[in-house]
Amino acid sequence: MSTIAAISTPLGVGGISVIRLSGKDAVKIASSVFSAFGNDKKYEPRKMYLGNFKAENFNEKCMMVWFKAPHSYTGEDVVEFQCHGGTVIANGVLNALLQNGATLAGPGEFTKRAFINGKLTLDEAEGVMDMINAESESEVRAGYNLMQGALSKEINEVQELLTKMIAKIEVVLDYPEVDYEEQTSNETIENLETIKTKLNTILQTSNTGQIIKNGSKVLILGKPNVGKSSLLNAILNFDRAIVTSIKGTTRDILEETYTFKGVKFVLTDTAGLHDAQDEVEKIGIEKAKSAVNYADVILLVLDSTSPLTDEDKEILKFANSKNTIVVKNKSDLNSNLDLSEYKFARVLEVSALKKRGVEELKQAIYDLVIDENIVNSNLMITNMRHVEAIKKAIGFVDEATEAINMGVTLDVVSIDLKNLWLALGEITGNNNNEEIINEIFSGFCVGK
Ligand code: GDP
Repeated sequence: MSTIAAISTPLGVGGISVIRLSGKDAVKIASSVFSAFGNDKKYEPRKMYLGNFKAENFNEKCMMVWFKAPHSYTGEDVVEFQCHGGTVIANGVLNALLQNGATLAGPGEFTKRAFINGKLTLDEAEGVMDMINAESESEVRAGYNLMQGALSKEINEVQELLTKMIAKIEVVLDYPEVDYEEQTSNETIENLETIKTKLNTILQTSNTGQIIKNGSKVLILGKPNVGKSSLLNAILNFDRAIVTSIKGTTRDILEETYTFKGVKFVLTDTAGLHDAQDEVEKIGIEKAKSAVNYADVILLVLDSTSPLTDEDKEILKFANSKNTIVVKNKSDLNSNLDLSEYKFARVLEVSALKKRGVEELKQAIYDLVIDENIVNSNLMITNMRHVEAIKKAIGFVDEATEAINMGVTLDVVSIDLKNLWLALGEITGNNNNEEIINEIFSGFCVGK
């Protein structure tokens, strides 16, 4: 396998750039361009050396460290240079390494090598990618746990149990004269129940996991002029939407993200829901109506200074089916709003203008969608690939269970068990499905 090189830090002006080499010739290639001050090139692993790096058209004073195989990220010899930041230096150092025998690493190739060399399972590698791409602290935590093997440990345990079950069935089939078939069938059913419970427990974390990964969708609804744009600004803590006292200034949908307690929320403000004459606004209203269908939380905003109008009552119909919070806005003014004939689960008084009740509102939104037990647990599934593989595995558990209950012979059941083992292997990559492996690493950045 070739020795690969890439710039591992983002290209741009900065304090330092890290350029990484991995492969059997890493030290040889490094030595051809780098000389440590006061050292005769007898490098020891895991020690930092200060020295001169000779690029084609310039010299650079930088640090070098060698991680000796197998004790490195990739499991191969890895050399890292910490150079001064800046695109010209980083590119010059990389080019010198390429000219001296290294080949340019593809996207995610360092991590792919780590996987091939058994340093990481596939889901652990995905955890690395999730951490890098995280937009909120809870995503970092989920990625970290994945990288540390929270999921692969569970999957490996199930696979080990399955291996034992399959082995036992093989023995029973090899010695038909001893009548163990019924006992083994009963044991298999019991084990399948245990496996199903375990897989379902993991799967149940995926709803919260999806919210953590994609952000929870919060939709602001209300007739014009109740203060929707002001509320959006107050939640985001900046002036994104145009706020005027003329009806219908929010023409289309505005989408912004914010984080609360380390969780990402995607906040959408809509054009006021009323019968618009204006064509542009009409399109906005249509979009708002369809946005209701995919929102996780609806903030139904009312103007507390005036009684409910027919328009408000129309909008209140949206409060029925979804996770709705009724927001009585303009609480800084005298209230003329009577909601006593309605039974809303959640009503909050807010002044978007004076930013009163906004933190309480953010907390209420959070409470509606976030299961803190799951978010703070070690294992939470955020990746749809894992969700699909677990569902597929549960399908095989059900098939095997049904087969035994219908009296199907154990040799046939054992095929289901093997399929179950393979479905789980898709998660950790121990079923060697090259297509899945390539697909995953192509999503990484170069240098990782
Ligand atoms: P939208 O059409 O629903 O987006 O409403 P806007 O956010 O544009 O607000 C309409 C008007 O109500 C503006 O003049 C705002 O300053 C005013 N407004 C919004 N929220 C409050 C509030 O909490 N208190 C008071 N007194 N006025 C508010």
